[in-house]
Amino acid sequence: MRFDIITLFPAFFDSPLRAGVLGRAVEKELFHIAIHNLRDWADPPHFAVDDTPYGGGGGMVMKPEPIRRALDAVRQGSRHSRVLLMTPQGRAFRQEDAVALAQEKGLTFLCGRYEGVDERVRAWVDDEFSIGDFVLSGGEFAALAMVDAVARLIPGVLGNELSAGEDSFGDGLLEYPHFTRPAEFAGMRVPEVLLSGNHGEIARWRRRERLRRTLERRPDLLDRARLTAEERSFVAALQRQGDEEEGS
Ligand code: SAM
Repeated sequence: MRFDIITLFPAFFDSPLRAGVLGRAVEKELFHIAIHNLRDWADPPHFAVDDTPYGGGGGMVMKPEPIRRALDAVRQGSRHSRVLLMTPQGRAFRQEDAVALAQEKGLTFLCGRYEGVDERVRAWVDDEFSIGDFVLSGGEFAALAMVDAVARLIPGVLGNELSAGEDSFGDGLLEYPHFTRPAEFAGMRVPEVLLSGNHGEIARWRRRERLRRTLERRPDLLDRARLTAEERSFVAALQRQGDEEEGS
């Protein structure tokens, strides 16, 4: 897998790509990542990458020409790269998108700044993603979040291959709660089942906790999750119990 990032602030990525899981994966060359300075494709003598908006109003708009040249140059090095525009107006980036994007040969992230890119740039991208209903000052934050979410699904990037599968959203549910030593702290005890050594019971408890947690915090996820009939009735029972408690 190859990631290409087109940005006006290449230095933004320096430290995150040297730290933790991403840093180790870059070092081991489990994927390749190239950061491209958009200004390299701007016209001399001023190398302007933005201009005032037609129609007036505040803010600046990123010019289409340097972006077109940058995309052409990146495509030469990575012909099958999927081009993704970072924008709050894009579709919401979800774990299932990370899973799908991890299958691609290459991903090119186009990071906006100012008021965003000239509208015509949208014709040259394969997809537009938002990482949430809020406005960031630059697409770099979004690109970095997406690179991290995709990269950790690449085989070998996570030390323990199991941990990605059990993570929240992996099968449409939130993850179960975690505990570590000591077994009792500040008057709070770790659930007995986790101390029992009974792996079957632990797996059952964890699955039920995933369902309980998802119902409590993100009930919207349950509509899309693949659940067995038994799990659906467990959730329905929890829901009835909650309704009764609220009513009493
Ligand atoms: N004027 C734009 C609008 O209202 O839609 C917002 C521009 S924002 C200040 C500058 C850049 O940050 C955008 O071009 C985009 O690349 C990035 N950005 C901001 N919020 C984002 C989000 N929620 N998801 C992805 N990218 C975002």
